[in-house]
Amino acid sequence: MRVAWEIVKSLGLRTRGVTVVACPTCGRLDVDNFVEIVTEIERRLAHVEEPLHLSIMGCAVNGPGEAHDSQLGITFGRGVGMIFKDGVPMRKVAGDDIVEAFVKETEKLLADGASAKPALPPLDLESQLVSIK
Ligand code: SF4
Repeated sequence: MRVAWEIVKSLGLRTRGVTVVACPTCGRLDVDNFVEIVTEIERRLAHVEEPLHLSIMGCAVNGPGEAHDSQLGITFGRGVGMIFKDGVPMRKVAGDDIVEAFVKETEKLLADGASAKPALPPLDLESQLVSIK
């Protein structure tokens, strides 16, 4: 059933629940347990029915750009994750604490009534890249 929902969501036919865009990983990955982190965040947010667009990127190369199109995003640096909200850097979190922090931020977003995608600010990749180093 979950796979069927993911298919209709990816085709844009229905919206329900969390859509997580995660990078495919490559040699630039800045975190060891990336797949486990993504899997755990998806598991912790599986109960959410409101449509939310989240991104989880393994390094600063594409992370800030992908976060720009997400309501919440994570971009990893070495030993640290930067949480973005609506494409704007919010706060750094130690790598070990990232799942808990990201789930809490998502729950806060839901408590604030988020479900529709808000307007996004202009993209400023250069300053975002510098801010997570
Ligand atoms: S976001 Fe970074 S780690 Fe992930 S695929 Fe792109 S370059 Fe590689």
